Amino acid sequence: MTEQLSDSTQKYSLTAKIFIGMIAGVIVGFLFKLLMGEAGDIQFALFGIDVSIKGLFIDGIFSGLGQIFIASLKMLVVPLVFVSLVCGTSSLSDPSKLGRLGGKSVGLYIMTTAIAVATAIAMALLIAPGEGLNLTTDTQFVAKEAPNLVQVFVDMFPSNPIASMAQGNMLQIIVFAVLFGVAVSLAGDAGKRVSAAFNDINTVIMNIVTIVMNLAPYGVFVLMAKLFATIGLDTILGLAKYFFLVFGVLVMHALITYPIILKSLSGLNPIILLRKMRNTALFAFSTSSSNATLPITMDTAKNRLGVKPTVSSFTIPLGATINMDGTAIMQGVATVFIAQVYGVDLSVTDFLMVILTATLASIGTAGVPGVGLIMLAMVLQQVNLPVEGIALIIGVDRLLDMTRTAVNVTGDCMVACIVAKSEGELDMDTYHDMEAGVRRDVD
Ligand code: ASP
Repeated sequence: MTEQLSDSTQKYSLTAKIFIGMIAGVIVGFLFKLLMGEAGDIQFALFGIDVSIKGLFIDGIFSGLGQIFIASLKMLVVPLVFVSLVCGTSSLSDPSKLGRLGGKSVGLYIMTTAIAVATAIAMALLIAPGEGLNLTTDTQFVAKEAPNLVQVFVDMFPSNPIASMAQGNMLQIIVFAVLFGVAVSLAGDAGKRVSAAFNDINTVIMNIVTIVMNLAPYGVFVLMAKLFATIGLDTILGLAKYFFLVFGVLVMHALITYPIILKSLSGLNPIILLRKMRNTALFAFSTSSSNATLPITMDTAKNRLGVKPTVSSFTIPLGATINMDGTAIMQGVATVFIAQVYGVDLSVTDFLMVILTATLASIGTAGVPGVGLIMLAMVLQQVNLPVEGIALIIGVDRLLDMTRTAVNVTGDCMVACIVAKSEGELDMDTYHDMEAGVRRDVD
């Protein structure tokens, strides 16, 4: 009997629990929104003390716990990337393989992003979401300085690796870790000892990932409750065409374009990839950050999909930083939308410019919430569209940010699978085993 009971609790995978946490968070958030009504808050006295619902729950408990959850994920990113990348590169028998891995990964990341933005532009021209709209906005958008592309490449090389780690500069950490790993593989006996130590540290860090992942259903719950208690869904209605178009192209990219690319370049069954991505996509959706999701994306690539560490430790962190197909989709649609609202005709050259800039821009900006809008400023400037146009879409960007982050991480894993397959570094048994790497509570 006891056995049967524990069996049935084991049926709930972590993914299911996170999903339940998410739905419960959305419902609770909405209930709070309804409760607080137009005024956006309710004050009452509890044992003689003035209590505000917003202050206590939304800005207090939900917001505080949500921030702690995101910080716990982010805390793992730098040590995890550095240590697993050193393990991955130091175990490469042939360092020239590294160049091939890098070339394939970067090439595929650029290709998928270019396809994403081109699809977005085509769909936006077809549906014309901004045609005939007369929008005004009170919101101001002040563009941050867009990164200069030459500087982006120069900045990949760290002058002080400790500073790079302290700032969480992913590309610099990758460059240093790869160099360190290659040096370890060339260092004979000393290298073997260092490599063994790094492998042990990696195991320990992965245990911290497991602990944090087990808290995810609660973390996701508070993040969603806070968001849906405060989000203004009415702004979505005003921009419904834009919102649903971006949303639709994101879904299309994940469910149609990725499967076609995966199948044609690697022969792998895309349904398996999509099903195994659910957990990671939920994390990405709730945190809106490819970077914060990185520990989970790496776990999925390695343990669920069977991408061996030599590839996953390199390709996944690189993707979290430079591969943002979802973001590029938003930029493609937003550019056409803003041009239509302002009545500007864009030429074919302009569109090619948009594709090029959006693709390159995604290399230079980190996977953190809302960064897509900063990149959009860069794209708009390239084709002489008013950057203030961003203020038109900012109101609906939060939900789209969540959705595009889920697409971004799915793209990272898809490319990792293709690269791994082509290098003979994909464990096919793990890929085909639907139960591989599934986390269940054993309580
Ligand atoms: N939040 C996205 C990511 O982390 C970037 C963005 O589109 O703003 O991948």
